[in-house]
Amino acid sequence: MSQITDLEELVAALPHDAQALFNRFYRIELATGTVKIPADMMPWVNTRFGAVERVETQRIVSIKNRFTGEHSLFNQLRTDRPIEARSPVHLAELEEKEHCLFCQPETSTPADAFGRITGNYCVTASNIAKYDALHSLVIFKEHNPLIIQKEWLADYLSTAERWFETVVRDHGSSALHKFFLWNCLWRSGASIIHGHMQLTATSERYGRLAALEEAITTYNRAFNGDYLADLIRVHEQLGLARQEGRETILCYLTPVKEKELVIVSSAARSDELAETLYTVLQRYFELGVQSFNLAIFMMDGRHIVRLVDRGSLTDRHTDIGAMELYAAAVIASDPFKLADAILQY
Ligand SMILES: [Zn+2]
Repeated sequence: MSQITDLEELVAALPHDAQALFNRFYRIELATGTVKIPADMMPWVNTRFGAVERVETQRIVSIKNRFTGEHSLFNQLRTDRPIEARSPVHLAELEEKEHCLFCQPETSTPADAFGRITGNYCVTASNIAKYDALHSLVIFKEHNPLIIQKEWLADYLSTAERWFETVVRDHGSSALHKFFLWNCLWRSGASIIHGHMQLTATSERYGRLAALEEAITTYNRAFNGDYLADLIRVHEQLGLARQEGRETILCYLTPVKEKELVIVSSAARSDELAETLYTVLQRYFELGVQSFNLAIFMMDGRHIVRLVDRGSLTDRHTDIGAMELYAAAVIASDPFKLADAILQY
């Protein structure tokens, strides 16, 4: 099976054009770290890592997107482990509805000035402490965020789209950028257990998205090309992509954190992605993912979804440190193993 630490060889085995496209996008650096294990530590190292040699010489792959600066570091010691299903944690608090404000949205959450948008399985609320002037919530009828159905998901997204249309109408003529996000459970930054998405509409793009848009514009002009189509092609050539109707699911080469998937869709509305999103979330749940971040935004005429695992609900340490905030992402999940686990169905 292919693995990320063999990336250089995998790229070298591609046809010439595919290699050229890969190298246009990415800069790979291979490095070997060496450590000297004291004799007293050897039994522990053997138990923990299988063999002292594996630890004494460690293969590290660094992958950097030349256009966006996205940069991830993979260490074979971490990526060697299989992407095994984590056992989901069964927590009573996921079912505790007694004091849940979102279980009574009509009376316990504020409404937008224009009122609420009501779906079959959700309702919107205004965010009480906003990130942005136009910032609201889609509150699911189902309290437990890990219980989802395809029709529910489609309804959440179509309600979000209707909120956005209403806001655009309300706001007058100026163009707004939509941004949908779903922080699921506390590892992801969610402060409320009850399932909900958040929506913002801004006239200025958020900084990171503006930088991505600029990278795409620069690329398209420089190569008279299509950044997103080429990004998909690079992943396809390595077996890291799957086409699903109008969507392509990528096991991303420069993940922001564990098991990141990027979906690029030519669908005009986000609710048209519900089927693919549902499938991918089911796959995530099967792997024991319970806490995740999901974002949906438009870029160069397409919808982009980003989805990332935020680790076990029982872990006390957070998964993001100074490296991720200020330098590059340190990743343990091998995108090739992720492709085996997620893209085969
Ligand atoms: Zn609730």
